[in-house]
Amino acid sequence: MGRCINHPDRETSYHCLKYNIYLCDECLGCRDPKIYCKFRSSCIVWFMTKKNKKIAYNAASASARV
Ligand SMILES: [Zn+2]
Repeated sequence: MGRCINHPDRETSYHCLKYNIYLCDECLGCRDPKIYCKFRSSCIVWFMTKKNKKIAYNAASASARV
């Protein structure tokens, strides 16, 4: 656990190995999604970034069907 780089009062377990920083739920997202990162395969931040995009996409397609 560590504290968010933008919110020192928030504890979080999302750790960016590349920058060695922690990001809270609000700040969660890869800082360089288009740049190669050797930590990406095991990066929780990257994993959550992808997951969130998928959720957003599913929500958009779901509302389009209604
Ligand atoms: Zn934050």
